[in-house]
Amino acid sequence: MNVVTRFAPSPTGYLHIGGARTAIFNYLFAKKHSGKYLVRIEDTDKKRSSEEAIEAIHKGLNWLNVNSEHNVVYQSQNFNSHIKVAHELLEKGHAYKCYLNSDELEKLRKKSRENGIPIKSPWRNKKKLDDNKKKEFVIRLRMPSDGTTTIDDMVQGKVTVKNEILDDMVILRSDNTPTYMLSSVVDDNDMGITHVIRGDDHFNNAFRQIQIIKYLNWNIPHYAHIPLIHGKDGAKLSKRHGATSLFDYHDLGYTGDAMFSYLLQLGWSAKNDEDYCIDRAIKLFALENVSKSPAKFDIKKLNNINAKNLNSMKTSDIYKLVIDRFKLSLNDEEQKRFKSLLPELLKRVQVYTDLELEFDWLFQKDFFCKDKNYQLKLQKNNLMLKEIGFKLKECEWSVENIKNTLNQYIVDKSLTFKDIGPILRMALTGKTNSPDLVSIIYELGCTITVNRLNYNY
Ligand code: GLU
Repeated sequence: MNVVTRFAPSPTGYLHIGGARTAIFNYLFAKKHSGKYLVRIEDTDKKRSSEEAIEAIHKGLNWLNVNSEHNVVYQSQNFNSHIKVAHELLEKGHAYKCYLNSDELEKLRKKSRENGIPIKSPWRNKKKLDDNKKKEFVIRLRMPSDGTTTIDDMVQGKVTVKNEILDDMVILRSDNTPTYMLSSVVDDNDMGITHVIRGDDHFNNAFRQIQIIKYLNWNIPHYAHIPLIHGKDGAKLSKRHGATSLFDYHDLGYTGDAMFSYLLQLGWSAKNDEDYCIDRAIKLFALENVSKSPAKFDIKKLNNINAKNLNSMKTSDIYKLVIDRFKLSLNDEEQKRFKSLLPELLKRVQVYTDLELEFDWLFQKDFFCKDKNYQLKLQKNNLMLKEIGFKLKECEWSVENIKNTLNQYIVDKSLTFKDIGPILRMALTGKTNSPDLVSIIYELGCTITVNRLNYNY
């Protein structure tokens, strides 16, 4: 079979984490089977859809590297085809015009809620009335009233429902616009979708949508309804749990590769394998390994994956990422300093935006330690810092010579490295934790180092 999948987001808000994971699953499944992965923007709700949201979807997919190489389909451009299908269903008797006004509809809704029965309009059994021609109507699907419908879902398993519980859903509104329930089925058919992989909040819809497909003798796609993402506390993921917009994670300093790898592992895993770069993931991916229970979003795990990813990236790539993000313009010396210390600095952060905390001491000429407690300590050790500064000024600048100078100072004063190391680090970086001291001194260069050691606190 020639597999065709689609990611079909509604551009009514930002691209959320759950949507992004759905995109990843669709992408991997299609690639694994050498099939096609398509993106369809479901912009049927014109009032709530926005250009920004569409742009955010594309930006998010690009960032994760799961964009489609085929033309993007915009659902609203297919309206005519959806309307045609609604009328075809009407002509074949599988749908009917419903002339209920809003009061009547409200009463029907109330009755259906109270009795726990699906909505079936009284117009289901009435003949067409000519004098109704001018009245407004919607088109409803005439659901089968007996029998059952079974879906053998690739994630949820085999589920059967009685058709009597299905409501006669609206497929065409009174303003002649098709509903999502119709548009999505028609588009799936027109696009030749073989596998519908989406959130399990659509599982109920599948039992209703499949009736349209059956009435029209179209091919029924395979379904895979994937569980939603919950927060660590087990509740549905919401703003309360932190950012839910995919691109917020970009802004927070996560890499697209780390996010891809993490989202993939949310509710899916391959046994004995944790190397989830995109090529490997394509090979390993199988819908059978998607868990049936909701996945829990765990920021700690994401942080670990991100930190690992940062440390495995080429220094030149991560350097470019940071420079672009912070719009840094560095002179040659600063560039060299930053690149040399970057691998060590990365070991200390989980997101690369945290490197910003290092910019002061890395690049400022007149940097001095800002922490009041540290300042007091530096004040106490003023003489020692100046002495070391003096010795360093004398030495020919090389890693080896710097090391020897410091060692000589320790010997001369009968000290240990612990007596000078932390205080030197504080004076040079304003921190107690930083890359190797000798590397810092070497990279800062003689002038900056000596100035910082000579500072009068
Ligand atoms: N547009 C729907 C959504 O964003 C998805 C519909 C589908 O995948 O069939 O939830």
